[in-house]
Amino acid sequence: MSGRITTLRELENRIELFKEEREFFRLSDAKDFPFSVTDHYFSLIKKEDPSDPVRLQCIPSVRELDVKPYEVNDPLCDSENMPGTGIIHRYRDRILVLASGICAVYCRHCFRRYLPGNRDHRLQEETLEQVATYLKKNALVEEVILSGGDPLLLPDSFLGQIMEALKRSKSGLTFRIGTRVPVVLPERITDELAALLRKFIPLYIITQFNHPNEISKESIHAINKLADTGIVLLNQAVLLRGINDDARILYTLFRMLARLRVRPYYLFQGDLACGTSHFRVNLEQGLRLFRAFDHHVSGLARPVYAVDLPGGGGKINLGDRVIREKRDGWYLIEGNDGKIYRYPVE
Ligand code: SF4
Repeated sequence: MSGRITTLRELENRIELFKEEREFFRLSDAKDFPFSVTDHYFSLIKKEDPSDPVRLQCIPSVRELDVKPYEVNDPLCDSENMPGTGIIHRYRDRILVLASGICAVYCRHCFRRYLPGNRDHRLQEETLEQVATYLKKNALVEEVILSGGDPLLLPDSFLGQIMEALKRSKSGLTFRIGTRVPVVLPERITDELAALLRKFIPLYIITQFNHPNEISKESIHAINKLADTGIVLLNQAVLLRGINDDARILYTLFRMLARLRVRPYYLFQGDLACGTSHFRVNLEQGLRLFRAFDHHVSGLARPVYAVDLPGGGGKINLGDRVIREKRDGWYLIEGNDGKIYRYPVE
């Protein structure tokens, strides 16, 4: 983490920037989403290629400063589903705990932009007690998702303390950890961390590989270490324009992951987070692309194509032909609650 590139000067010492990238640093201010790249992730960039898929995910472009009127900092309405500090309770049988406020790489397409980079969002010991009490009181919750920020950036001791406290508060709990560490900082998956995590099986680790170029020999080593302990690995990819919106790329990515014992779980349509419109793929194009890919791939390597409906409508499977209508620049989509939600055509 200490070797990360976090400033324009450090970046310019390592790579020649393109105009749109330089413009971002000239025009952005401290309030904007932070910038940070690990040495490992940076090493995956093919420096001469302006559309390199790793570069586009980690080096900001001035296009981020174009915020559409319907884009917001909290597109999934996390704040409306927070019964306590650091707890998001949207679905009946599971809660999400915002365990850490930092990430190793700040993904330029991140949808939880109000959180990463803010160390204050790290779970505190007193908040942990509140989460444990909440779990005890809510009999229907069977699963805890540790998220953030990246929970695997917490010190082993504190991560263990969190998981112990939650496990004690309810028997039979299933854990999930959402992390990009195997992609961007694979050396963090040490023998000690793998041994610690093993104690909390049933544990599912959800990674986010978005392109085959992100699967390095270091990532494979990290994945093997986790999979060999008996932890189940799943992948949630995001459909990103100019990065993976190509049926062959998706096919290669998902086949490679299945071979590595990382089951492709979700392919997400982009959320309406501020400054991310240049990454979003038109919904109908996304459906066409997914069908082209879906046709050829075995169930083991086929994720669910889904969208988190704007305005807190929750996650729905886009394969179910849920688009009811296209009107005035919007898709009208029926949510699981029967209500109609709007998603921009763009
Ligand atoms: S690791 Fe996750 S939370 Fe952090 S910047 Fe990337 S997408 Fe956002």
